[in-house]
Amino acid sequence: MKARPILILLLFAASVLVLVWLYHASAGSSRKRAASPWQETIADLDECSRDKHARSAQYTHFADIAERENDRQSARLFRAMALSEGIQEQNCVKALSRLGGTYVPPSKVVVFRNSTGENLARSIDLEQHRFTERMCPQIDRAVSAGNRYAAKMLIWSAAIGRQHVRLMQARNPAVCAAGPLDYAVCPVCGNIYDTEFCDHYCPHCLTGCKDFVWFR
Ligand SMILES: [Zn+2]
Repeated sequence: MKARPILILLLFAASVLVLVWLYHASAGSSRKRAASPWQETIADLDECSRDKHARSAQYTHFADIAERENDRQSARLFRAMALSEGIQEQNCVKALSRLGGTYVPPSKVVVFRNSTGENLARSIDLEQHRFTERMCPQIDRAVSAGNRYAAKMLIWSAAIGRQHVRLMQARNPAVCAAGPLDYAVCPVCGNIYDTEFCDHYCPHCLTGCKDFVWFR
């Protein structure tokens, strides 16, 4: 008769041990499920999105400075590039979300306050530095990981960055006396054009030029 409570106690202890084991086994498998094979690509897309966010804020600020200096062409270019960067940010965020990542934009962006000439020179240097130091390795990693969608978004971003450099260089009177007057931005991929050489269709995403956002 005295063995019965001990048996019940042993059965209770065994049940507790089984429950604890089941809990840990289930937590372990959810951790395994949560680990995404795209962690590196997600981190690259996150970095690219944050870069684009900061540049969009910076270019908007530079446009305000150019307007105060009565340099309307540079102001138009900076506004067009700000929109272009914002669209690219959203595209990178979309890609990142589809891979299971989450994005929080930078809460604060430090903007620089120089003359338009200095802002153009600084922006050209930064774009060129980002292209070689960040964009090219990010594209290589996405291609190596076999993620063509992420690679496409990053390639678009890199190509548009090169276009930004070309358009900013054309604002230098020593390089080009007149420079382009108007700009257009593809609302789907953020590709940017000076309207003198504007395509009928965006070569990245095939959006028709009638849908472009014009800066005149
Ligand atoms: Zn496009």
